[in-house]
Amino acid sequence: MNVIIFGPPGAGKGTQSDFIVKKFNLFKLSTGDLLRDEIKKKSSLGVEITSIVNSGSLVSDEIINGLIENFVSNDNYKNKIIFDGYPRNLPQAENLEKLLHKHKQNINLVIKLKVSLDTIKKRITGRIACSKCGNTYNIFFNPPKEASGCCQKQFLIKREDDNVDVASKRFETYEESTEPVIDFYNKMGLVRDVNGETDIDVIYSEISSYLNVIEGWHYKITSYKYVFYNLYPINYGPNSRN
Ligand code: AMP
Repeated sequence: MNVIIFGPPGAGKGTQSDFIVKKFNLFKLSTGDLLRDEIKKKSSLGVEITSIVNSGSLVSDEIINGLIENFVSNDNYKNKIIFDGYPRNLPQAENLEKLLHKHKQNINLVIKLKVSLDTIKKRITGRIACSKCGNTYNIFFNPPKEASGCCQKQFLIKREDDNVDVASKRFETYEESTEPVIDFYNKMGLVRDVNGETDIDVIYSEISSYLNVIEGWHYKITSYKYVFYNLYPINYGPNSRN
C-alpha cells in the first residue's frame, strides 16, 4: 500500500510516519529530509535551495518531482511508500498520480493530521533532532532521556527553519497550497481526518486502525488475484494493475 500523511509543519508527521514505517514495513519518502540532506552535503542542488528552504517557501515543482520519480520507479519501494511532505500543491499531486499509474501503483490512503497554529508554534520552537541517528524530540513535550544512545546534548540540533516567524509562514503556505490537494484526494474518498492534538500513542493507534483496514483489503485482493491468475492467466498476470 502507498500512503500520504498530511499536516502542517510540526503536526507530528515525522514522528507518526517513523512508527508506521516500522509497524507496516513501509519506506518513508520525506521530501523535506531529502532536501535537507542536499543542503548538508552542500551539493549544487543544496546550495540552490538553501535560502528557499530556510525562508519557509516551496522549492520548485521541477526539482521536487525529479526527486520523487527515483523512488516511485524503484521496485524495492513499490507499494511500500509513505509520502511525508509531498505532494504539497495540485501540480505535484497530479504529477504523483501520473507517476504512480506509469509504474502500476496508486495511493491507498491519505491521513490528514489536524493541529492548530498555537500548538504548532509551541511544538516547533521546542523541536530538536539527533544529528547522528535522526531521532526527533521536543524539549517541552518529549525531551531525550539521559544517556539515550547517541542522542547526547552535543549532537542535538535545531532546524534552521524552526522558529516562530518561519513556522507561521510555513503554516500559511501549507493552508494555501496543500488544502486544495486534500480536496483532490477527498474526491477520491481516500482522506481520513486525525486529531493531531492528542497523545502521540492515541494518534498512532487511530492511524494504525486505518492502515490495518487497507492492509487487510490489499491482502485479500492480492490473494484473489493469485487465485484468478491461476484460473485465467491472461487477465490477471504480473502486468495487471496492483
Ligand atoms: P518539511 O520538512 O516537509 O517541513 O519541509 C521543509 C521545507 O522543504 C519546506 O518548507 C520547503 O521549503 C521544502 N519542501 C519540502 N517538501 C516540499 C515539496 N513537496 N514541495 C516544495 N518544497 C518542499
